[in-house]
Amino acid sequence: MFDIEKIRKDFPILKRDVYGKPLIYFDNAATTQKPKAVVDAIAEEYYSVNANVHRGVHFLSQRATELHEEARETVRRFIGAESSEEIIFTRGTTESINLMAFSFGEAFIKEGDEIIISAMEHHSNIVPWQMTAERKGAKLKVIPISDEGEILLDEYERLFTGRTRIVAVAHVSNVLGTANPVKEMIRMAHERGVPVLVDGAQSAPHMPVDVRTLDADFYAFSGHKVYGPTGIGVLYGKKEWLDRMPPYQGGGEMIKNVSFLKTTYNVLPYKFEAGTPDFVGSHALAVALDYVNAIGMDNINRHEHELTTYAVDALSSLKDVRFIGNSASRCGVVSFLLGNVHPFDVGTLLDRLGIAVRTGHHCAEPLMHHYGISGTVRVSFGLYNTKSEVDAFIAGMERIAKMF
Ligand code: PLP
Repeated sequence: MFDIEKIRKDFPILKRDVYGKPLIYFDNAATTQKPKAVVDAIAEEYYSVNANVHRGVHFLSQRATELHEEARETVRRFIGAESSEEIIFTRGTTESINLMAFSFGEAFIKEGDEIIISAMEHHSNIVPWQMTAERKGAKLKVIPISDEGEILLDEYERLFTGRTRIVAVAHVSNVLGTANPVKEMIRMAHERGVPVLVDGAQSAPHMPVDVRTLDADFYAFSGHKVYGPTGIGVLYGKKEWLDRMPPYQGGGEMIKNVSFLKTTYNVLPYKFEAGTPDFVGSHALAVALDYVNAIGMDNINRHEHELTTYAVDALSSLKDVRFIGNSASRCGVVSFLLGNVHPFDVGTLLDRLGIAVRTGHHCAEPLMHHYGISGTVRVSFGLYNTKSEVDAFIAGMERIAKMF
Protein backbone atom coordinates (compact mmCIF):
# COMPACT_ATOMS: atom_id res chain seq x y z
CA MET A 1 0.00 0.00 0.00
CA PHE A 2 1.08 3.56 -0.70
CA ASP A 3 1.17 5.13 2.76
CA ILE A 4 2.66 8.57 2.17
CA GLU A 5 3.05 9.47 5.85
CA LYS A 6 4.90 6.24 6.52
CA ILE A 7 7.07 6.78 3.44
CA ARG A 8 7.98 10.33 4.50
CA LYS A 9 9.25 9.03 7.83
CA ASP A 10 11.85 6.99 5.94
CA PHE A 11 13.50 10.22 4.68
CA PRO A 12 15.12 12.08 7.61
CA ILE A 13 15.89 15.18 5.53
CA LEU A 14 12.17 15.85 5.02
CA LYS A 15 11.92 16.81 8.68
CA ARG A 16 14.28 19.73 8.32
CA ASP A 17 13.47 23.42 7.97
CA VAL A 18 14.80 25.87 5.40
CA TYR A 19 14.70 29.54 6.45
CA GLY A 20 12.35 28.50 9.26
CA LYS A 21 9.90 26.88 6.81
CA PRO A 22 9.35 23.14 6.39
CA LEU A 23 11.42 21.90 3.45
CA ILE A 24 9.42 21.22 0.30
CA TYR A 25 11.74 19.39 -2.04
CA PHE A 26 10.67 19.66 -5.69
CA ASP A 27 14.08 19.16 -7.30
CA ASN A 28 13.89 15.41 -7.67
CA ALA A 29 14.87 15.35 -11.34
CA ALA A 30 18.28 16.71 -10.28
CA THR A 31 18.69 14.26 -7.42
CA THR A 32 16.39 12.47 -5.01
CA GLN A 33 16.61 12.34 -1.23
CA LYS A 34 17.78 9.14 0.41
CA PRO A 35 15.79 6.83 2.66
CA LYS A 36 17.45 5.97 5.96
CA ALA A 37 17.90 2.37 4.79
CA VAL A 38 20.26 3.55 2.03
CA VAL A 39 22.38 5.77 4.28
CA ASP A 40 22.49 3.05 6.95
CA ALA A 41 23.61 0.48 4.36
CA ILE A 42 26.56 2.71 3.43
CA ALA A 43 27.62 3.21 7.06
CA GLU A 44 27.10 -0.44 7.88
CA GLU A 45 29.23 -1.62 4.98
CA TYR A 46 32.09 0.70 5.90
CA TYR A 47 31.82 -0.23 9.56
CA SER A 48 31.64 -3.97 9.21
CA VAL A 49 32.43 -5.26 5.72
CA ASN A 50 34.79 -2.87 3.95
CA ALA A 51 37.42 -4.64 1.83
CA ASN A 52 38.30 -4.52 -1.86
CA VAL A 53 36.23 -6.82 -4.04
CA HIS A 54 37.09 -9.68 -6.43
CA ARG A 55 40.74 -10.06 -5.45
CA GLY A 56 40.70 -11.28 -1.90
CA VAL A 57 40.62 -14.74 -0.38
CA HIS A 58 39.85 -13.32 3.03
CA PHE A 59 36.43 -13.20 4.64
CA LEU A 60 35.73 -9.47 4.31
CA SER A 61 36.73 -9.32 0.66
CA GLN A 62 34.50 -12.25 -0.14
CA ARG A 63 31.57 -10.72 1.73
CA ALA A 64 32.06 -7.35 -0.02
CA THR A 65 32.24 -9.19 -3.37
CA GLU A 66 29.00 -11.02 -2.59
CA LEU A 67 27.21 -7.77 -1.78
CA HIS A 68 28.55 -6.15 -4.97
CA GLU A 69 27.51 -9.06 -7.19
CA GLU A 70 24.14 -9.43 -5.45
CA ALA A 71 23.62 -5.74 -6.24
CA ARG A 72 24.26 -6.46 -9.90
CA GLU A 73 21.58 -9.12 -9.75
CA THR A 74 19.17 -6.67 -8.07
CA VAL A 75 19.77 -4.17 -10.89
CA ARG A 76 19.26 -6.94 -13.46
CA ARG A 77 15.87 -7.75 -11.94
CA PHE A 78 14.93 -4.07 -11.60
CA ILE A 79 15.25 -3.44 -15.35
CA GLY A 80 14.34 -6.93 -16.50
CA ALA A 81 17.65 -7.75 -18.19
CA GLU A 82 18.33 -11.32 -19.19
CA SER A 83 21.75 -11.72 -17.61
CA SER A 84 23.80 -9.89 -14.99
CA GLU A 85 26.71 -9.99 -17.48
CA GLU A 86 24.77 -7.23 -19.24
CA ILE A 87 24.83 -4.93 -16.20
CA ILE A 88 27.85 -2.61 -16.11
CA PHE A 89 28.38 -0.41 -13.07
CA THR A 90 29.42 3.14 -13.93
CA ARG A 91 29.48 6.46 -12.08
CA GLY A 92 26.10 7.43 -13.50
CA THR A 93 24.18 8.09 -16.69
CA THR A 94 26.81 10.50 -17.95
CA GLU A 95 29.59 7.97 -17.66
CA SER A 96 27.36 5.26 -19.15
CA ILE A 97 26.74 7.38 -22.24
CA ASN A 98 30.41 8.36 -22.52
CA LEU A 99 31.30 4.68 -22.36
CA MET A 100 28.80 4.04 -25.15
CA ALA A 101 29.87 6.93 -27.33
CA PHE A 102 33.53 5.88 -27.08
CA SER A 103 33.27 2.13 -27.17
CA PHE A 104 30.34 1.72 -29.56
CA GLY A 105 31.89 4.51 -31.62
CA GLU A 106 35.24 2.68 -31.83
CA ALA A 107 33.57 -0.55 -32.91
CA PHE A 108 30.83 0.60 -35.23
CA ILE A 109 31.06 4.27 -36.27
CA LYS A 110 33.15 5.30 -39.26
CA GLU A 111 33.59 8.38 -41.39
CA GLY A 112 30.31 9.39 -43.03
CA ASP A 113 28.16 7.38 -40.59
CA GLU A 114 25.21 8.94 -38.77
CA ILE A 115 24.05 9.12 -35.16
CA ILE A 116 20.46 10.08 -34.33
CA ILE A 117 19.55 11.91 -31.12
CA SER A 118 16.53 14.08 -30.28
CA ALA A 119 16.05 17.81 -29.77
CA MET A 120 15.17 17.28 -26.11
CA GLU A 121 18.35 15.54 -24.96
CA HIS A 122 20.30 16.38 -21.83
CA HIS A 123 23.84 17.59 -22.60
CA SER A 124 25.11 14.22 -21.45
CA ASN A 125 23.31 12.56 -24.38
CA ILE A 126 24.53 15.19 -26.84
CA VAL A 127 28.14 16.07 -26.12
CA PRO A 128 29.60 12.52 -25.93
CA TRP A 129 28.04 11.79 -29.35
CA GLN A 130 29.34 15.08 -30.74
CA MET A 131 32.82 14.10 -29.55
CA THR A 132 32.50 10.71 -31.24
CA ALA A 133 31.15 12.32 -34.41
CA GLU A 134 34.14 14.68 -34.45
CA ARG A 135 36.64 11.92 -33.80
CA LYS A 136 35.19 9.67 -36.46
CA GLY A 137 34.04 12.19 -39.06
CA ALA A 138 30.45 11.10 -38.47
CA LYS A 139 27.30 13.21 -38.50
CA LEU A 140 24.83 13.97 -35.72
CA LYS A 141 21.17 14.11 -36.80
CA VAL A 142 18.50 15.55 -34.54
CA ILE A 143 14.85 14.43 -34.30
CA PRO A 144 12.65 17.54 -34.20
CA ILE A 145 9.89 17.97 -31.61
CA SER A 146 6.47 19.64 -31.59
CA ASP A 147 5.73 22.73 -29.52
CA GLU A 148 3.95 20.47 -27.05
CA GLY A 149 7.33 18.84 -26.54
CA GLU A 150 6.75 15.53 -28.30
CA ILE A 151 9.01 13.72 -30.73
CA LEU A 152 7.77 13.90 -34.33
CA LEU A 153 7.78 10.24 -35.30
CA ASP A 154 7.38 10.89 -39.05
CA GLU A 155 10.43 13.14 -39.00
CA TYR A 156 12.28 10.54 -36.96
CA GLU A 157 11.55 7.93 -39.59
CA ARG A 158 12.83 10.22 -42.32
CA LEU A 159 16.22 10.63 -40.61
CA PHE A 160 17.26 7.02 -41.16
CA THR A 161 19.62 6.26 -44.01
CA GLY A 162 21.88 3.36 -44.83
CA ARG A 163 24.56 5.17 -42.77
CA THR A 164 22.58 5.35 -39.49
CA ARG A 165 24.55 3.46 -36.85
CA ILE A 166 22.77 4.23 -33.57
CA VAL A 167 19.82 6.12 -32.04
CA ALA A 168 20.32 7.65 -28.57
CA VAL A 169 17.19 9.08 -26.98
CA ALA A 170 15.84 10.10 -23.58
CA HIS A 171 13.09 7.89 -22.20
CA VAL A 172 11.70 10.85 -20.24
CA SER A 173 12.79 14.47 -20.80
CA ASN A 174 14.24 16.13 -17.71
CA VAL A 175 12.84 19.49 -18.87
CA LEU A 176 9.50 18.74 -20.50
CA GLY A 177 8.61 15.60 -18.59
CA THR A 178 7.57 13.99 -21.88
CA ALA A 179 7.71 10.20 -21.78
CA ASN A 180 8.87 9.38 -25.28
CA PRO A 181 7.41 6.43 -27.21
CA VAL A 182 10.71 4.59 -27.00
CA LYS A 183 9.22 1.15 -27.58
CA GLU A 184 7.85 2.32 -30.93
CA MET A 185 11.08 4.20 -31.71
CA ILE A 186 13.13 1.09 -30.98
CA ARG A 187 10.86 -1.00 -33.22
CA MET A 188 11.33 1.50 -36.04
CA ALA A 189 15.12 1.51 -35.59
CA HIS A 190 15.29 -2.28 -35.44
CA GLU A 191 13.38 -2.56 -38.71
CA ARG A 192 16.44 -0.86 -40.18
CA GLY A 193 18.96 -2.88 -38.18
CA VAL A 194 19.90 0.10 -35.99
CA PRO A 195 20.41 -0.32 -32.20
CA VAL A 196 19.00 2.13 -29.66
CA LEU A 197 20.45 3.55 -26.44
CA VAL A 198 17.75 4.74 -24.04
CA ASP A 199 18.79 7.45 -21.56
CA GLY A 200 16.78 6.26 -18.57
CA ALA A 201 17.99 8.88 -16.07
CA GLN A 202 14.41 10.20 -15.73
CA SER A 203 12.48 6.98 -16.30
CA ALA A 204 14.11 4.55 -13.87
CA PRO A 205 12.92 6.61 -10.85
CA HIS A 206 9.36 7.08 -12.07
CA MET A 207 8.00 4.04 -13.91
CA PRO A 208 8.47 0.29 -14.19
CA VAL A 209 11.12 -0.37 -16.83
CA ASP A 210 11.66 -3.66 -18.61
CA VAL A 211 14.49 -3.49 -21.12
CA ARG A 212 13.37 -6.72 -22.77
CA THR A 213 9.80 -5.53 -23.27
CA LEU A 214 11.17 -2.31 -24.73
CA ASP A 215 13.74 -4.35 -26.66
CA ALA A 216 16.28 -1.62 -25.80
CA ASP A 217 19.81 -2.48 -26.88
CA PHE A 218 21.28 -0.18 -24.23
CA TYR A 219 19.78 1.57 -21.21
CA ALA A 220 21.53 3.98 -18.83
CA PHE A 221 20.49 5.35 -15.44
CA SER A 222 21.90 7.04 -12.33
CA GLY A 223 21.66 5.69 -8.78
CA HIS A 224 21.28 9.11 -7.16
CA LYS A 225 18.07 9.87 -9.07
CA VAL A 226 16.43 6.67 -7.89
CA TYR A 227 16.94 7.22 -4.15
CA GLY A 228 20.42 5.63 -4.17
CA PRO A 229 23.82 7.20 -3.56
CA THR A 230 25.78 9.51 -5.83
CA GLY A 231 28.68 8.11 -7.82
CA ILE A 232 27.03 4.90 -8.98
CA GLY A 233 25.04 4.22 -12.11
CA VAL A 234 24.35 1.56 -14.67
CA LEU A 235 24.78 0.82 -18.32
CA TYR A 236 22.73 -2.11 -19.54
CA GLY A 237 23.70 -3.51 -22.90
CA LYS A 238 22.65 -6.58 -24.82
CA LYS A 239 25.45 -9.13 -24.64
CA GLU A 240 25.56 -9.49 -28.42
CA TRP A 241 26.55 -5.80 -28.68
CA LEU A 242 28.78 -5.53 -25.60
CA ASP A 243 30.81 -8.55 -26.70
CA ARG A 244 31.76 -6.72 -29.88
CA MET A 245 32.71 -3.43 -28.18
CA PRO A 246 36.25 -2.64 -26.94
CA PRO A 247 36.97 -1.59 -23.34
CA TYR A 248 36.45 2.05 -22.43
CA GLN A 249 39.17 2.34 -19.79
CA GLY A 250 42.20 0.20 -19.00
CA GLY A 251 43.45 -0.93 -15.60
CA GLY A 252 42.83 -3.57 -12.97
CA GLU A 253 39.73 -5.80 -13.09
CA MET A 254 39.17 -5.41 -16.84
CA ILE A 255 41.99 -7.76 -17.90
CA LYS A 256 42.47 -11.49 -18.21
CA ASN A 257 46.25 -11.47 -18.74
CA VAL A 258 48.72 -8.63 -19.05
CA SER A 259 52.16 -8.71 -20.57
CA PHE A 260 54.20 -5.94 -22.12
CA LEU A 261 53.58 -7.51 -25.50
CA LYS A 262 49.85 -8.12 -25.30
CA THR A 263 46.95 -7.79 -22.89
CA THR A 264 43.78 -9.84 -23.09
CA TYR A 265 40.54 -8.57 -21.65
CA ASN A 266 38.20 -9.92 -19.04
CA VAL A 267 34.72 -11.30 -19.72
CA LEU A 268 31.55 -9.21 -19.41
CA PRO A 269 30.76 -7.12 -17.48
CA TYR A 270 34.27 -6.71 -16.00
CA LYS A 271 35.77 -5.77 -19.38
CA PHE A 272 34.06 -2.41 -18.89
CA GLU A 273 34.82 -1.95 -15.18
CA ALA A 274 38.44 -0.88 -14.85
CA GLY A 275 39.74 -0.21 -11.34
CA THR A 276 38.14 -0.60 -7.93
CA PRO A 277 34.40 -0.28 -8.40
CA ASP A 278 32.17 1.66 -6.02
CA PHE A 279 31.23 -1.55 -4.24
CA VAL A 280 29.65 0.32 -1.33
CA GLY A 281 27.62 2.41 -3.76
CA SER A 282 26.45 -0.64 -5.71
CA HIS A 283 25.15 -2.29 -2.54
CA ALA A 284 23.47 0.94 -1.41
CA LEU A 285 21.91 1.27 -4.87
CA ALA A 286 20.50 -2.24 -4.51
CA VAL A 287 19.03 -1.23 -1.13
CA ALA A 288 17.41 1.78 -2.84
CA LEU A 289 15.99 -0.42 -5.62
CA ASP A 290 14.65 -2.87 -3.03
CA TYR A 291 13.09 0.11 -1.27
CA VAL A 292 11.23 1.41 -4.34
CA ASN A 293 10.26 -2.11 -5.37
CA ALA A 294 8.69 -2.70 -1.97
CA ILE A 295 6.51 0.38 -2.55
CA GLY A 296 5.95 -0.66 -6.17
CA MET A 297 7.03 1.27 -9.25
CA ASP A 298 3.42 1.25 -10.49
CA ASN A 299 2.27 2.87 -7.23
CA ILE A 300 5.05 5.46 -7.43
CA ASN A 301 4.12 6.21 -11.03
CA ARG A 302 0.43 6.63 -10.15
CA HIS A 303 1.19 8.87 -7.16
CA GLU A 304 3.54 11.13 -9.12
CA HIS A 305 1.11 11.27 -12.03
CA GLU A 306 -1.61 12.50 -9.68
CA LEU A 307 0.72 15.14 -8.25
CA THR A 308 1.75 16.27 -11.73
CA THR A 309 -1.83 16.60 -12.94
CA TYR A 310 -2.78 18.39 -9.74
CA ALA A 311 0.12 20.85 -10.06
CA VAL A 312 -0.50 21.51 -13.78
CA ASP A 313 -4.21 22.18 -13.11
CA ALA A 314 -3.42 24.52 -10.22
CA LEU A 315 -0.68 26.37 -12.12
CA SER A 316 -3.00 26.74 -15.14
CA SER A 317 -5.37 28.78 -12.99
CA LEU A 318 -2.63 31.38 -12.35
CA LYS A 319 -2.45 34.30 -14.71
CA ASP A 320 0.57 34.50 -17.00
CA VAL A 321 1.86 30.98 -16.47
CA ARG A 322 3.24 29.47 -19.66
CA PHE A 323 4.14 25.79 -19.72
CA ILE A 324 7.22 24.65 -21.57
CA GLY A 325 6.16 21.26 -22.84
CA ASN A 326 2.61 20.05 -22.51
CA SER A 327 2.63 16.40 -23.41
CA ALA A 328 -0.19 14.18 -22.24
CA SER A 329 2.54 11.67 -21.35
CA ARG A 330 4.18 14.10 -18.90
CA CYS A 331 5.93 12.18 -16.16
CA GLY A 332 6.77 13.89 -12.85
CA VAL A 333 8.23 17.09 -14.29
CA VAL A 334 6.58 20.48 -14.89
CA SER A 335 8.51 23.33 -16.54
CA PHE A 336 7.02 26.78 -16.78
CA LEU A 337 7.57 30.53 -16.95
CA LEU A 338 5.70 33.24 -15.08
CA GLY A 339 5.10 36.20 -17.41
CA ASN A 340 8.41 37.92 -18.04
CA VAL A 341 9.77 37.13 -14.60
CA HIS A 342 13.23 35.61 -14.76
CA PRO A 343 13.14 31.93 -13.65
CA PHE A 344 16.02 32.65 -11.28
CA ASP A 345 13.89 35.23 -9.42
CA VAL A 346 10.98 32.80 -9.10
CA GLY A 347 13.35 30.10 -7.83
CA THR A 348 14.98 32.44 -5.32
CA LEU A 349 11.65 33.63 -3.93
CA LEU A 350 10.33 30.07 -3.67
CA ASP A 351 13.54 29.10 -1.88
CA ARG A 352 12.81 31.72 0.80
CA LEU A 353 9.54 29.87 1.37
CA GLY A 354 11.42 26.62 1.87
CA ILE A 355 10.51 25.33 -1.59
CA ALA A 356 13.37 23.86 -3.63
CA VAL A 357 12.84 24.04 -7.40
CA ARG A 358 15.38 24.20 -10.20
CA THR A 359 15.78 27.09 -12.60
CA GLY A 360 17.90 27.57 -15.70
CA HIS A 361 18.56 25.57 -18.85
CA HIS A 362 18.59 22.19 -17.06
CA CYS A 363 21.59 21.02 -19.12
CA ALA A 364 19.47 21.20 -22.27
CA GLU A 365 20.59 24.38 -24.02
CA PRO A 366 19.55 23.23 -27.52
CA LEU A 367 16.03 22.62 -26.19
CA MET A 368 15.99 26.15 -24.72
CA HIS A 369 16.99 27.47 -28.16
CA HIS A 370 14.07 25.53 -29.67
CA TYR A 371 11.65 27.42 -27.42
CA GLY A 372 13.57 30.69 -27.74
CA ILE A 373 14.07 31.00 -23.98
CA SER A 374 17.07 31.00 -21.68
CA GLY A 375 15.58 28.80 -18.98
CA THR A 376 12.52 27.63 -17.09
CA VAL A 377 11.34 27.04 -13.56
CA ARG A 378 11.17 23.29 -13.08
CA VAL A 379 9.19 21.43 -10.46
CA SER A 380 9.93 17.70 -10.32
CA PHE A 381 8.28 15.21 -8.03
CA GLY A 382 9.45 12.24 -6.03
CA LEU A 383 7.57 9.48 -4.29
CA TYR A 384 7.47 11.39 -0.96
CA ASN A 385 5.86 14.58 -2.26
CA THR A 386 2.28 15.45 -1.33
CA LYS A 387 -0.67 17.46 -2.58
CA SER A 388 -0.40 19.76 0.42
CA GLU A 389 3.16 20.56 -0.67
CA VAL A 390 1.79 21.43 -4.10
CA ASP A 391 -0.79 23.67 -2.39
CA ALA A 392 1.98 25.48 -0.50
CA PHE A 393 3.90 25.90 -3.76
CA ILE A 394 0.84 27.33 -5.53
CA ALA A 395 0.24 29.73 -2.63
CA GLY A 396 3.87 30.79 -3.00
CA MET A 397 3.43 31.27 -6.73
CA GLU A 398 0.35 33.42 -6.13
CA ARG A 399 2.39 35.65 -3.82
CA ILE A 400 5.20 35.92 -6.34
CA ALA A 401 2.76 36.69 -9.18
CA LYS A 402 1.32 39.54 -7.10
CA MET A 403 4.80 40.97 -6.43
CA PHE A 404 5.47 41.34 -10.16
N1 PLP B 1 20.07 12.38 -18.83
C1 PLP B 1 19.01 12.97 -18.30
C2 PLP B 1 17.69 12.95 -19.02
C3 PLP B 1 19.13 13.64 -17.07
O1 PLP B 1 18.07 14.24 -16.53
C4 PLP B 1 20.39 13.67 -16.42
C5 PLP B 1 20.56 14.41 -15.15
O2 PLP B 1 19.83 15.30 -14.83
C6 PLP B 1 21.45 12.99 -17.01
C7 PLP B 1 21.26 12.37 -18.21
C8 PLP B 1 22.80 12.96 -16.37
O3 PLP B 1 22.76 12.25 -15.18
P1 PLP B 1 24.02 12.21 -14.20
O4 PLP B 1 24.40 13.64 -13.96
O5 PLP B 1 23.51 11.52 -12.99
O6 PLP B 1 25.09 11.45 -14.90
